Amino acid sequence: MDFDTPLAEAWIRAIAAAVEKEQDRLTELDSVIGDGDHGSNLRRGFSAALAALDGLQPAGPGAVLTKVGSTLISKVGGASGPLYGKAFRAIGAALPDPAPPGSAEPVGPATVAEALAAGLDAVRALGKAVPGDKTIVDAYTPAVAAFRSAAGAGAALPEAASAAADAADQGARDTIPLQARKGRASYLGERSIGHQDPGATSTALLFRALADVTAS
Ligand code: ADP
Ligand code: MG
Repeated sequence: MDFDTPLAEAWIRAIAAAVEKEQDRLTELDSVIGDGDHGSNLRRGFSAALAALDGLQPAGPGAVLTKVGSTLISKVGGASGPLYGKAFRAIGAALPDPAPPGSAEPVGPATVAEALAAGLDAVRALGKAVPGDKTIVDAYTPAVAAFRSAAGAGAALPEAASAAADAADQGARDTIPLQARKGRASYLGERSIGHQDPGATSTALLFRALADVTAS
């Protein structure tokens, strides 16, 4: 299996569906250590992303994800919009799009691993968070590490994506004992301890969606 245009579009549809389903949970988590808008921010962003893809004739999977990124940046006001927006733009930019369609090398797990890593670099460049700050970075970092190591060991896309999703889930759970050092939750100081970070939780949803669409 390659990471092609239909797969990129299926990933975004799966994310939009997961965000819709988990909106209340994300909002609840953000109510405890933030301002309670994470679920609605992402819902607005990914439904706008779906609308933007509708009728688009993308040159390849990179163009799909670049479009999603710029849509998130323009439609989501919270911190997560620009962070996820830059991530998707960087992932898209790192995927070689075929011209004419179908003529390029297929995009395999190693290329996807590096594209996902470029997304993480973009999040870190914009948000300046490091692992342990109780943010998106705490789920994204172990997910990229797991994806890379699976791809390096010769795993196919579904296995690599599934390993990344498991690592992201664990990374999100591991934010519970952390004290937030970036974003709104950091205003709470020690009171942010004991609660799962909403952004790390949504990052885990993104990776689970990728695992789901590559498996089917
Ligand atoms: P806002 O905080 O503006 O209300 P959201 O509620 O949509 O935006 O997103 C909050 C999430 O954004 C947090 O749970 C955290 O994971 C993530 N976040 C905030 N600041 C940063 C940052 N500097 N780097 C990475 N992630 C961050
Ligand atoms: Mg918020």
